[in-house]
Amino acid sequence: MDRTLAADLARLPELLDATRRAAAEALATLGERPVVPPQDAPPPAPLPAHGTGTEAALAEFRARWEPRLSASAGPRYLGFVTGGATPAALAGDWLTAAHDQNSNSAMDGAGQHLERETVTWLRELFGLSDAHTGTFVSGATMSNTAGLAIAREWLGERLGVSPAQDGVAALGPVPVLSGAPHSSIAKALSVLGLGRAALVPVPTLPGREAVDPAALDRALADAPGPAVVVANAGTVNTVDFDDLRAVAALRERHDFWLHTDAAFGAFAALTPEHAHLVAGLDASDSVCVDLHKWLNVPYDSAVQFTRRRDLQSRVFANAAAYLGPLGPDPDLVHLTPENSHRLRALAAWFTLRAYGREGHREIVERDIACARSLGERLDRDPAFRLLAPVRLNVVCFTLAGNPAPERLTALREAVAAEVFVTPTVLAGTAGLRAAFSNWRTTPADVDRAAEALRAAAKEIA
Ligand SMILES: *Cc1c(COP(=O)(O)O)cnc(C)c1O
Repeated sequence: MDRTLAADLARLPELLDATRRAAAEALATLGERPVVPPQDAPPPAPLPAHGTGTEAALAEFRARWEPRLSASAGPRYLGFVTGGATPAALAGDWLTAAHDQNSNSAMDGAGQHLERETVTWLRELFGLSDAHTGTFVSGATMSNTAGLAIAREWLGERLGVSPAQDGVAALGPVPVLSGAPHSSIAKALSVLGLGRAALVPVPTLPGREAVDPAALDRALADAPGPAVVVANAGTVNTVDFDDLRAVAALRERHDFWLHTDAAFGAFAALTPEHAHLVAGLDASDSVCVDLHKWLNVPYDSAVQFTRRRDLQSRVFANAAAYLGPLGPDPDLVHLTPENSHRLRALAAWFTLRAYGREGHREIVERDIACARSLGERLDRDPAFRLLAPVRLNVVCFTLAGNPAPERLTALREAVAAEVFVTPTVLAGTAGLRAAFSNWRTTPADVDRAAEALRAAAKEIA
């Protein structure tokens, strides 16, 4: 064994303890450090021929890289839709690395049993029935991709071919209908060979991002054969929800696969006030839910739910004698694009076990209250204008005067040390988004964010 490696092995507990201290210090300053520090890269460093061990690596990381990292796990990182990591989720993630399981096969099956238990809990959390099975993937993009891959195989079943076996050309053109789909849907269609052009935009309700069910009905009537509908449960700009029951009811008249992107919107199910937004989610044939957003587990984690695991394993089966048979309850190696599969479920298992449904409901409700409160503050401030009502956990706003993109960029950069928001365009108007999904965020953070925005708007006026 390399001498440095052997020396590290001899003092492993001490090294883990030093790492734990470094992590605790980084987390202790999360609320006070610049939310996004200036983004310069350090001068390049050569690959060491001989290493100097974990302690030296830790010291160099802390000096050279750590000060450049954002406080994205903290309470005022409101860009994109970004959660943090609850204490239990962090503990679970550390142990995932410590145990370093490849949880994809019944031949060494504890990891997949743990994942299945976690999926059962999540299913209950989101109000899904046991008609759905679920599998962990790396994020909502991968969940959407896997869901649409199953949809592709379903289309094949309807047309008497198997795209998994014979290629996607066997299908011919397929319409994929959606009101306000996330950008990852087009990416998924590109990956799957259905093509970005397969996406057919369906009109939304006036002034809304929710699909117009009557327009969807007409679009389905125009489809030459079986189709795919992507329903949206929580859009990124205005957190609008398609009427999932109305969309599902169209199956009485039309033949389509219903995929629902509920990446963060599924968490509405946790709060009695908002659960109606995802009523009918269970009727979907496939469902995408992100966990590294509102469940507050570390990156990267999401779940793909489906009612047709038989089609799922047809797509993702990885036949090899050494991996064992497919069987009626397929191993995880046969259910996702990956073969090797980290024990990704453990962080979710930990946070659900530690805080339960009520603990996570409190996080969701507090984030919603914070979003509402920031929305009210910005609405009262003459410098700003809301671009949409605050429906759930996102505030979509712009400068009241001249919302030119370069002025919004200046505003964003001026507040980046105090609060991080990201740009968008809504119905042709440039704006900014503040998305609340972190377990640490409190009303005091809303005060700081509102004050920073108010002061910066004055500066650039
Ligand atoms: C975030 C998000 C995605 C993509 O999620 P990743 O985890 O970044 O892959 C897809 N759909 C919606 C609605 C989202 O909010």
